[in-house]
Amino acid sequence: MVNQVAATTSDPTAPADKVNLLDFDREGLRDFFTQIGEKPYRAEQVMKWIYHHLEDDFEKMTDVGKALRAKLEASCYVGPPKTLLEKVATDGTHKWLLGMDRGNAVEAVYIPEPTRGTLCVSSQIGCALACTFCSTGTQGFNRNLAPSEVIGQMWVAAKQLGNITHQNRRITNVVMMGMGEPLLNFDNVTTAMSLMRDDLGFGLASKRVTLSTAGLVPMIDKLSETIDVSLAVSLHAANDELRTELVPLNKRYPLAELTAACQRWVARKPRTSITFEYTLMKGINDQPEHARQLIKFMRKLPTCKVNLIPFNPFPGTRYERSDAQAIHAFQTLLLNAGVLTMLRRTRGDDIDAACGQLKGQVLDRTRRQAAFRKRLEEGGIHAA
Ligand code: SF4
Repeated sequence: MVNQVAATTSDPTAPADKVNLLDFDREGLRDFFTQIGEKPYRAEQVMKWIYHHLEDDFEKMTDVGKALRAKLEASCYVGPPKTLLEKVATDGTHKWLLGMDRGNAVEAVYIPEPTRGTLCVSSQIGCALACTFCSTGTQGFNRNLAPSEVIGQMWVAAKQLGNITHQNRRITNVVMMGMGEPLLNFDNVTTAMSLMRDDLGFGLASKRVTLSTAGLVPMIDKLSETIDVSLAVSLHAANDELRTELVPLNKRYPLAELTAACQRWVARKPRTSITFEYTLMKGINDQPEHARQLIKFMRKLPTCKVNLIPFNPFPGTRYERSDAQAIHAFQTLLLNAGVLTMLRRTRGDDIDAACGQLKGQVLDRTRRQAAFRKRLEEGGIHAA
């Protein structure tokens, strides 16, 4: 996939007349090297330095000729987003606040587990889809991230975790589940994901790179034709009325259309399954009737699985976490019906890094933040 040289504005001090090499996947970088009069294989040499050795200084790329190093130094740079803040929770979860242009910032989260380490990456500054139970959804939207700003989150985390590909791989999985709807930033996100997959990039297998969508039906089909990655769908309700309340996109692409798109995905990729994310909110979607609706939905996608996520409250939300008994009862109903179901353990609570809590800093162009604050002040919604 060839990507245009996107103007990357993460770092206001970044040279405007230089090209950020993190904006290119392998093919794009080979094309760029051809454009500057170099052999394409040189691009692959440089890629290895950038992603395997996490090197951003051309001078240190010792097997690259001196003249080429000088040329790259004069016209290019390796520019990940700037780290504004790094927090580490008591359970080992890391959260980075990464600065973009004009005071915007996004968050990336690393969750270590005994057998794997998962990095949650953002795709947009804010999100236009306004899911009512999501912190990012209350913040409005500013813009899409450039490829360098998406893969740059992984580059920063890898560097700070000491993740050296093929030696000490601490990031074993990536989920595009941070701020934003990744399928609304399709080209930039798929360019970044191809770098996550590429052997000269971070070299992760397709089942270890997951894109999570709220259900943008036409783009699910496009994704399956474009790149080999795994899919997760933010479901949260299996009846249209409730799902539209929680995920307003459902009005445009109701459950019947979403189901059909997921069935097409599974038909094209018979060895893969889709994970359906279901956030459990007290008295909203955690009752036995909701479990039965979910079982009925999953019967149409028998090879897929459900990931139950206890809701993580954030200031101003009207929702509460389901109590342990309700969660257990809900999971039991699903398991007894033969639905492969996992319960996600909440991680990073003490640094607001849990699922649905990412908020970064968004210069809101949709005025949604102001409306949310007004409703909060008027008492229409209450603090968690
Ligand atoms: S859940 Fe995802 S799609 Fe919905 S508002 Fe939050 S970030 Fe956007």
